[in-house]
Amino acid sequence: MDLEWNQCPSGKEDEVEKLPFEIFEIGAVKLDEDMNRLDSYSCYIKPQVYKELHYIAKGLTHVSMESLNDGKTFADAVGEFIGWCEKDGEYRVCTWGTSDLVELQRNMRYFDISNPFSYPLFYYDVQKLFSIDREDGKSRRALETAVDMLGIEKDIDFHRAISDAEYTAKVMALLDMKKVSAYYSIDTYRTPKTVKEEIKVNYGTYEKYITKGYDTKEELVNNARLLATRCYLCGGTARKKIRWFTMNSKMHYCLAECRQHGYIKGRFRVREDEDGRFYASRVLKITDEAGAEEIRQRQSEVRKRRRDKRQKKKS
Ligand SMILES: [Zn+2]
Repeated sequence: MDLEWNQCPSGKEDEVEKLPFEIFEIGAVKLDEDMNRLDSYSCYIKPQVYKELHYIAKGLTHVSMESLNDGKTFADAVGEFIGWCEKDGEYRVCTWGTSDLVELQRNMRYFDISNPFSYPLFYYDVQKLFSIDREDGKSRRALETAVDMLGIEKDIDFHRAISDAEYTAKVMALLDMKKVSAYYSIDTYRTPKTVKEEIKVNYGTYEKYITKGYDTKEELVNNARLLATRCYLCGGTARKKIRWFTMNSKMHYCLAECRQHGYIKGRFRVREDEDGRFYASRVLKITDEAGAEEIRQRQSEVRKRRRDKRQKKKS
């Protein structure tokens, strides 16, 4: 799936806070389990909030306000699109990057449409899968770069929702899904409301944990469940070698050790959800001596910085 959206034409100051990006086009391609192309979906949406195109939308897309004004309402478009998704049975959303699903749900919320997706929402970020399959797992390429790298023919223009969806599907069809299929992403537009709803996934090479939301950062970063380090391979307690410390109060790190599996490095980021609650997304990862050393270095940097600050105050 790919979306195109518009933003406030007169700049950020005038934007509607709850709807920074208004979707005006939905494009999607349906693949079966063997990555055969089954069908496609495409529609324009009549703008209801920003009634002129922002210059970025003007530049990127081959679309005019006149043609958008013939489009469907957002509610009708989403209803039709979800119907199209569901008509062949179970489906999984695949997008290039993480932002399309966020903006789709934000638009749904703004226009008061109940969220049709299951919770938690697992999806494929094809941009990430491409990186895991073809690069280091960390790089994030533009769709066109990936298309070039895979030698896919560029016979349609980019930056229309339907054409980017077609290209995303073509990239996906060329990936080694046996290698990457376990690496689905977890959407965090909706965060866990209770401890019971919290999400923990063992990807084999690392574990991801998404906490529930808290009213304050302090409550979050002092929470025992977040700070506890259990080895995700054997379930045993991994003793802390370096307690959780923070670089900038957003990223936190620690180093632990499992008797059986060796070093485990931990990191979590404090995030704010749509309702202003604080939650963390934490990763635990088995690492080696070099990985452990990196955490030690980082900690001594933080300590040095603190010392320098104190000294400055004194002098
Ligand atoms: Zn272990």
